Amino acid sequence: MFGVVPKPLWEKCLPPDEKNRIRLAMRALVFQRAMDGLWCMIDCGAGLRWDAKHASIYGIDVTRDYVREGLVAVGLSLGLDLKPTDIRCFIATHLHFDHIGGLVREDTDGKLVPTFPNALHFIHKRHWEYALRPTERDHASFRREDYLPLEHQVEIEWLEESETPLFEGQVVSRSVHGHTPHMQILDIRLGDKVLTYTADLVPTVHHVRLPYIMGYDLQPLQTLAEKKDLFSRMALNPRQALFLEHDPVTECVRVRRSDHQWEVLESSTLAAFISPGKG
Ligand SMILES: [Zn+2]
Repeated sequence: MFGVVPKPLWEKCLPPDEKNRIRLAMRALVFQRAMDGLWCMIDCGAGLRWDAKHASIYGIDVTRDYVREGLVAVGLSLGLDLKPTDIRCFIATHLHFDHIGGLVREDTDGKLVPTFPNALHFIHKRHWEYALRPTERDHASFRREDYLPLEHQVEIEWLEESETPLFEGQVVSRSVHGHTPHMQILDIRLGDKVLTYTADLVPTVHHVRLPYIMGYDLQPLQTLAEKKDLFSRMALNPRQALFLEHDPVTECVRVRRSDHQWEVLESSTLAAFISPGKG
């Protein structure tokens, strides 16, 4: 997760277990479209279709359906019964298994069916094409059975540009390429705030530091440029925060420039960031 950063440095950020694994989240985001109140979701974690061997390699917790539980919790807070069938738009940042492994599930006959059957699925066309032919280096990050069954079972809206406004401009989807070709990062307007869903561009709060770039990234120097570009853009807006998909603790972070580096200005929960009067 930390690329060229030596372990004596990164292990202070996230202490590893005896198998050198660190604790990480797979944090999806659910929100309502301002234009019509439809429920939207970005990414959905690794899902539950894991055999014991592979679940153990990555330490994936398959004991609970966190996506379903999360939807129930969001619903409860609003007096609603929120279920996967209520999700009407699903945006995939990219097709690595830890982001969209939960997109299909096994029905009682063992058939792979969509988890969000009523959702229009937004996927970048060129990333999809890449995911069908990754290199020998990154093929283990893709499981075709996570996304191929979608093609004839849900509606897919193919993103084709490097920047696409969605939902009357409430969301802007942008391609970045350092981690994997055409990964999408998303600016989401929530009231007067902007939340940037950074996917694997800034996976944890520790990756705010510029040299902290994942070994998984295919083009680390491109990631470096893309991080600087994102931070410079958001530093102009005091009401913009980054949403961290993989950080085990921190949900949102704001950054500031210090000399030639970038550092954390403020960390907060999502609830605190979007609460009125803050920011
Ligand atoms: Zn990834």
